[in-house]
Amino acid sequence: MNLMHTTEIKSLIDLQVRDKAIDDLARKISSVPLEIQALNDAFEEKKGTMQTAKDTLVKLQVEKKSKELLIAEKEEEIRKHQRDLNMVKDNNAFKALLIEIERAKRDQDDTETAILGLMESVDKAAAEDRRLQQEVKKLEEEKNLRTKDLSANKENMEAALEAAKAARADAAGKISAEIIEKYEFIRAQRKGLAIVHVKEDKTGHISCGGCNMGLTAQKTVDIKTPDALVFCDNCQRMIYLDKTVNGAVV
Ligand SMILES: [Zn+2]
Repeated sequence: MNLMHTTEIKSLIDLQVRDKAIDDLARKISSVPLEIQALNDAFEEKKGTMQTAKDTLVKLQVEKKSKELLIAEKEEEIRKHQRDLNMVKDNNAFKALLIEIERAKRDQDDTETAILGLMESVDKAAAEDRRLQQEVKKLEEEKNLRTKDLSANKENMEAALEAAKAARADAAGKISAEIIEKYEFIRAQRKGLAIVHVKEDKTGHISCGGCNMGLTAQKTVDIKTPDALVFCDNCQRMIYLDKTVNGAVV
C-alpha cells in the first residue's frame, strides 16, 4: 500500500487502545458462564462421589442386617432341634440332630465373626459418608458465593463495556471516514490489531511490531516522516515509530 498522509495517527493509536480494552472486556465477560459451569461441574462430581459413598454404606448396612437375621434363624433352628432331641427315641436320629445342632452353632459363630468385620466396615463407611456430606455442603456454599461474585462482576463489566463502546464510537467519529474504514478493514483481517508500533534495534534496524518482518529501506525512511501513515508490506497493518508520532503530532 502506498504512503498516505494523516494527522490522525495519534487518534488511531488511541482507538486501537480502546478497541483492545473492549475486546479484552468482552472476552472476560464471555468467560464468566464457563467459569460458573466449571464450578457446577466440580460440585456435581463431588456429589457423585458422596452418593457412591452413601451407596456403599447402605449396602454394608443391608449386608449386616441380613447376617443378623441369619443368626436369628440359626437360633430358632437350634431351639427346634433341641426340642426334637427330647422326642426322638432312635439313637441314630438323636446323633443326626446333635450334628445338625453343631453345624448350626458353627454357622452362627462364623456369621458373628462376619458381623464384627462388617461393623468395622460400616463405621468406616459412615465416617466417610459424613466427611463427604460436609465437604459437599462446604463446596456448595463456596460455589454459591463464587457464582454470586462472578455474576455481579459480569454485570459491572457489561456496564463498563457499554460505556467503553460509547466512548469508542465518539472517538472514532472524530477520525475521517476513509482512515477509519482502512483501520476497521485491517482490524478485521488481523485479529483485532490494526495499528502497531515498530521496533528499532540498536543498529537502527526497524521491524513491524505486528509480524516482526524487517522494514525495507524506503519504509524505514517513510516511518520517520511526520504525519506519514505507513503500512507494513508483510501484514498490511498500519505501523508507526513512537518518536516520530510523539514528535510530529501535538
Ligand atoms: Zn507487519
